[in-house]
Amino acid sequence: MFVSDILAYKGNRVVSVAPQDSLAAAIATLAARRIGALLVLDADEAIAGILSERDVLHAVAREGAQALNRTVSEVMTGTVVTCDPDASIEQIMETMTERRFRHLPVVQQGRLCGMISIGDVVRLRLEEQRREADALREYITAA
Ligand code: AMP
Repeated sequence: MFVSDILAYKGNRVVSVAPQDSLAAAIATLAARRIGALLVLDADEAIAGILSERDVLHAVAREGAQALNRTVSEVMTGTVVTCDPDASIEQIMETMTERRFRHLPVVQQGRLCGMISIGDVVRLRLEEQRREADALREYITAA
């Protein structure tokens, strides 16, 4: 199974914010979309960073409610790790575990084509295991 299999059911839409947006506006988007991270795109649609709920948490822990007036660029992670649609699910699980994050933008030949979360990976692995168990059951009962 590959990242492209996740994108096949999930689609290519990526929810993004601009670096100059306020943290309060970004939090409203996270809540409205029920997601855990936003990609930060600059005026040329290039990836400028990633803002996850973890970044919000740390900013508020540091500064309290004042943090809500910060811009996204002040709070986001600026160096973004991305993956290719051809990457295997095992590779993605390894990257997320080693780097300790739960989101990966998908980029193919410089073009943004989706965003996957650890939740998407777990869902695909569960489906895969269910299919394997069904196939085994069928094999055993047919024997
Ligand atoms: P997360 O576990 O995804 O909520 O993120 C934990 C931390 O890693 C936060 O500081 C995020 O900004 C950062 N982060 C999340 N995804 C990525 C990524 N793909 N590349 C770089 N940093 C990331």
